[in-house]
Amino acid sequence: MYDLVIRNGLIVTHENVSAGNIAIQNGKIAAITSAETEIEGKEVIDAQGKYVFPGGIDTHAHLNDPGYNWREDYVHGTQAAAAGGITTFIDMPMQNEPALTTAALFNRKEELLKDKGIVDYAFWGGLIDNNVKELVGLYEAGAVGYKAFIGPCSPDYTSVTSGIMRHAMREVVPRDIVFGFHCEDYSIIKYEENKAIQENRRTIRDFLDARPVSAEMISVENVICLAKETGARVHICHVSHPEVAQLIREAKAEGVKISGETCSHYLVFNEDDFLNNGPIFKCAPPLRRQEDQEALWEYVLDGTLSCVASDHSPCTLEEKAVDSGDIWKSWGGLSGIQSTFQVMFDAAVNQRKLSPKLLAQVLSYGPAQAFNLFPRKGVLAPGYDADIVILDPEKEWEITPESLFYVNKISAFVGLKGKGSIEKTLVRGKVVFDDGKITAAPGTGKLLKRQDCGPRQL
Ligand SMILES: [Zn+2]
Repeated sequence: MYDLVIRNGLIVTHENVSAGNIAIQNGKIAAITSAETEIEGKEVIDAQGKYVFPGGIDTHAHLNDPGYNWREDYVHGTQAAAAGGITTFIDMPMQNEPALTTAALFNRKEELLKDKGIVDYAFWGGLIDNNVKELVGLYEAGAVGYKAFIGPCSPDYTSVTSGIMRHAMREVVPRDIVFGFHCEDYSIIKYEENKAIQENRRTIRDFLDARPVSAEMISVENVICLAKETGARVHICHVSHPEVAQLIREAKAEGVKISGETCSHYLVFNEDDFLNNGPIFKCAPPLRRQEDQEALWEYVLDGTLSCVASDHSPCTLEEKAVDSGDIWKSWGGLSGIQSTFQVMFDAAVNQRKLSPKLLAQVLSYGPAQAFNLFPRKGVLAPGYDADIVILDPEKEWEITPESLFYVNKISAFVGLKGKGSIEKTLVRGKVVFDDGKITAAPGTGKLLKRQDCGPRQL
């Protein structure tokens, strides 16, 4: 008899949707059978009429803990992840105090957070202007990627030059680890920002004009060029525009080891939402035009953008400086780790009539592939962790401040309505979210290290 059986659900993988049962033993998926097969469990969940997805993997989240836990912390942030069907997230190294740029800081962060999370998490290590010598240590400590900024970042985190990027790539290329880049050309953005401020131009349109698509494209071209030369594996974070995605498509065709990530906000919002609703929608790269938002979907559908992340980047309401009339004072970043799954389900399955397979692809399989989390995460198959989301496709939802588990209950997604509600979330076979409530204690979530996963299969 198995520990738990999820019976009669519509099991969704990146390849197909079929009715069946999932048997769970010791936190792992033990068997997947047809709906007709009789299997016994000590506990049984009836998933009749529900979709059963692999747990979501958010490749890009800023939980701000340790360091800035008045913006977000691991207790609230991982509860929000659980409510949002995210069973693993990869936490960014900046907006930590200090930023995670050495193995010692990796170990410190692991220790500080070990009793706080309720879903699993991995750590990005930081690549900044002076820590190339730390990269091998970060790899050995268990980082699953290195994050670098080509564009401007916060004061606690320095941007890198092409010289540093190239050196870093050459240094660690024999190891199977990915470099993730925030791609926006530093000099273009700083030039335009400074010019606007000098001329006292402080509107949302001024901010949009200071972050042109060309800045994103120039950065991505540089990364591709260096990846080609060095053979390093690279990941382009938060692609906002179809022309940027096109560069990734072409590089993939040439055999460059590159993966592309976009975010739910670039797929469901555009610059009109920002212009109409104000700084709550400020993020970087910025929201683009409506036609760009539409065209970006094509690159999600063809697999060029194989990850849809949240770029959960929380802040206080004061930091958004909503009423200041000065967009330069406003925090750049959106909170979305709780909303990404449901918003993507509604946008893809209900509005665009796409198969739910797409969600299993961009929220689970694609992220696990990009960060090589096989054979632990990203797939519903025997031997994998039983990270599972049960979604009721008929249940309607509305995102309200009260529904958010964040420390700061503000989000661009507040006010959105849709259909397809997350009913249960399981992490390694344990129900951590059930019918609107958190059902697991802090500490249930575990740190996933690079070496907990297998050698790269693809
Ligand atoms: Zn980010």
